[in-house]
Amino acid sequence: MTSNATFDSALAEIRAALGPRGVVEGADMATYSTDVRGVYKGEALLVARPASTEEVSQVVRICARHGLAIVSQGGNTGLCGGSVPRGERACVILSLARMNKILSVNPDSYTVTAEAGVILQSIHDAAAKVDRAFAMDWGARGSATVGGGVSTNAGGINVLRFGNTRDQVLGLEVVLPDGRVWNGLRALRKDSSGYDLKHLFIGAEGTLGVVTKAVLKLHPRPAHEKSMWASVADIDRLMDLFVLARSIASEGLTAFELAPGHTYELALAKHPHLTRPVETRAEWYVIVRFSGQQPVDDKFEAFFEMALEAGLVTDAALAQNLTQEANIWHLRDEIPPLRLIAGKKLKWDASVPIDRIVPFLREAQARAEAIQKDMRVIAFGHVGDGNLHMSIFPKGEHEDPGFDALCARVEREIDELIWSHRGSICAEHGVGVENFTRVVGQKDPIEFELMARVRMLFDPQGLFNPGKMIDAQAHLPKAAE
Ligand SMILES: Cc1cc2nc3c(=O)[nH]c(=O)nc-3n(C[C@H](O)[C@H](O)[C@H](O)COP(=O)(O)OP(=O)(O)OC[C@H]3O[C@@H](n4cnc5c(N)ncnc54)[C@H](O)[C@@H]3O)c2cc1C
Repeated sequence: MTSNATFDSALAEIRAALGPRGVVEGADMATYSTDVRGVYKGEALLVARPASTEEVSQVVRICARHGLAIVSQGGNTGLCGGSVPRGERACVILSLARMNKILSVNPDSYTVTAEAGVILQSIHDAAAKVDRAFAMDWGARGSATVGGGVSTNAGGINVLRFGNTRDQVLGLEVVLPDGRVWNGLRALRKDSSGYDLKHLFIGAEGTLGVVTKAVLKLHPRPAHEKSMWASVADIDRLMDLFVLARSIASEGLTAFELAPGHTYELALAKHPHLTRPVETRAEWYVIVRFSGQQPVDDKFEAFFEMALEAGLVTDAALAQNLTQEANIWHLRDEIPPLRLIAGKKLKWDASVPIDRIVPFLREAQARAEAIQKDMRVIAFGHVGDGNLHMSIFPKGEHEDPGFDALCARVEREIDELIWSHRGSICAEHGVGVENFTRVVGQKDPIEFELMARVRMLFDPQGLFNPGKMIDAQAHLPKAAE
């Protein structure tokens, strides 16, 4: 992609508006134009790094005037290719990295107000200082930003207790595609004054506006919090184990995660500093976390005894100190197979109703086996939320003419299986590029038409994150000939 004269003048205006610290050009753009997995790469004419809402607005106005597309970017940890250019039209990457100030932390109203480029870990640290807890938490907490979390409606390990990102947002400030600033930075728990526009921007993947600030909820910080790593006796009775944990801890059950034995062993081998929580080797493990204002040890004791007696677990280890607690969660962060197993893999970020998790997993294994004997299916994730991250590894040489067709068949069959459970193939990572065409089979055409109309209403020029989430033109009714 080369810049023509029109864009040269747009770029000169952006340089003048932001100064040398506010732009990245040439080879230095490489880290911004490749996604975290190295799967998606795109080209941008320039990376704009505004330091204020006013500067974001200036960049957006310049781009709108010159017809230059904008790809908003936070920590670039997204897993669906939404944060890098797709290469369809000339574009600027708009990085929020310099908008990284926490503006206020209010322990009395249980809120934090932050700029979009603040990383999650910084908010966790700030909340802890005032004895509060912050709910948005997942493996990329050291790089993922408030703006990225809001724009993907991210989930993570606290959804069971606190809901996903949508449930944490009280107010937003957004720069619209024409450069105007919508100040919806309210800290209200109640407001029934009409359409709640912030919800349109949550999960919009940068297609409707640039999120510049957010008011987010804080929560009471539990005085006690512990996790147990348990070996599952029978995966087919996983729901019984979940229901037991819920019945014992009620709201205090704050995480219920599934980990496969296969990648658990690979993670331990790859990271020798991590220790094995339980000696028993199992096909599946669960990580259960109880939190509360009272000690949780008694609850864990009851949980383990009852689970053992009922034949639901074979072994378990309760973290006895912060080091063991950290070890459990570090292991959890390291088990995703994408970083552990090389070769061609197909992946799903699937959600199904919670009670369908095990039937879905079994059916997925059966379908994969029916297509190719011994096809490996690895699943892990937030089963307490009905969310499984699943990878399937077809055997074969990538160069073989039939290999792509085989992968396409597996992908289609598993997508259809998810939909047969009224589930979603985009549980928490978004659509991006990865699911741009696939997701079309998931919803009624009327839903896509309404989404397309919303996108066109906000961004009639189609400049914000083109080629991502939804192809608005394709879903609008065709004008009569
Ligand atoms: C190790 C690892 C573990 C992960 N675990 C989880 C998990 O458990 N749960 C989960 O949900 N996700 C998880 N993710 C995915 C990822 O961290 C989330 O999608 C996160 O929300 C992305 O935030 P980001 O700041 O990196 O956004 P980016 O990747 O930069 O952008 C993501 C999308 O948001 C848009 N965007 C970014 N900032 C803005 C803004 N200010 N305004 C408008 N649009 C914007 C981008 O255009 C893009 O479409 C994980 C990723 C990694 C690498």
